[in-house]
Amino acid sequence: MDRHANVVPMIARGVLELKLELEREGGEGGARLGKRGVENKWMNDMPEIHQFLDGFYMSRIGIRMLMGQHVALEEAAATAPQENYIGLICTKVSPVAVARDAIEDARSICMRQYGDAPEVEVFGDESFTFAYVPGHLHQMLFELVKNSLRAVSDKYLDSDQMPPPIRVVIAEGAEDVTIKISDEGGGIRRSGLQRIWTYLYTTANSPLLEMDADTGAGPAVLAGYGYGLPLSRLYARYFGGDLQVLSMDGYGTDAYLHLNRLGNIAEPLT
Ligand code: ATP
Ligand code: MG
Repeated sequence: MDRHANVVPMIARGVLELKLELEREGGEGGARLGKRGVENKWMNDMPEIHQFLDGFYMSRIGIRMLMGQHVALEEAAATAPQENYIGLICTKVSPVAVARDAIEDARSICMRQYGDAPEVEVFGDESFTFAYVPGHLHQMLFELVKNSLRAVSDKYLDSDQMPPPIRVVIAEGAEDVTIKISDEGGGIRRSGLQRIWTYLYTTANSPLLEMDADTGAGPAVLAGYGYGLPLSRLYARYFGGDLQVLSMDGYGTDAYLHLNRLGNIAEPLT
């Protein structure tokens, strides 16, 4: 498990090299296509890369879930089991508490990079809990909040106005738990909206080329790897949920994270 901890940035780096190669010598006419053309080609003509990565990362989530569950159960048997935990699964996850944790982590990266971080407000019932893997929930919320923090920080960078707060709303449904992350960070342009789900699409500078090629460990940055959204959607789908992003270009973005709470979904490995 430890040896393969950095597989995601490693693969991303490989894919980035392929993309740069395509851009540079143009594979099949990249010079003629220009940057935008390569971007389109990447999207439209190489769907197999994205399909492959989706399938590969989904299997990886599944395998690591099984390994992690095994290790956590062994550890619990050797020491005292943690209350409300069955391996990695917590039968009483409080989404409000996990959201607060993820927000704190994301804001501290934002603080480091921008010297300041917009406020994030959480709305939801503190006492509500459901069974889930807290690590997965933390990961997804962390990615979504990072994206919002970045968008709002960028928009209000040179302004005297107070940046509007990001709002995280947690709703307890009968069949699922929905978490909405809303920001007023200016939204995503329509031409970019189709690309946010592709791996490597980012509007930030990529830290992948700075990473340690042996360990695969890259710097913790607010944005730039370009797989925050597609990976978060896989985590959500792994347990039968989903992730949607709606944007009003010029105003802001809403991300809806749906988490299934019935526990009757088979692993979506196809
Ligand atoms: P990382 O993998 O490090 O998170 P990233 O943030 O660039 O890098 P994604 O999280 O997948 O990658 O997001 C892809 C792109 O979508 C971002 O670069 C940004 O341009 C756009 N985006 C995502 N969320 C928002 C948002 N809330 N507001 C505006 N743009 C957004
Ligand atoms: Mg991101």
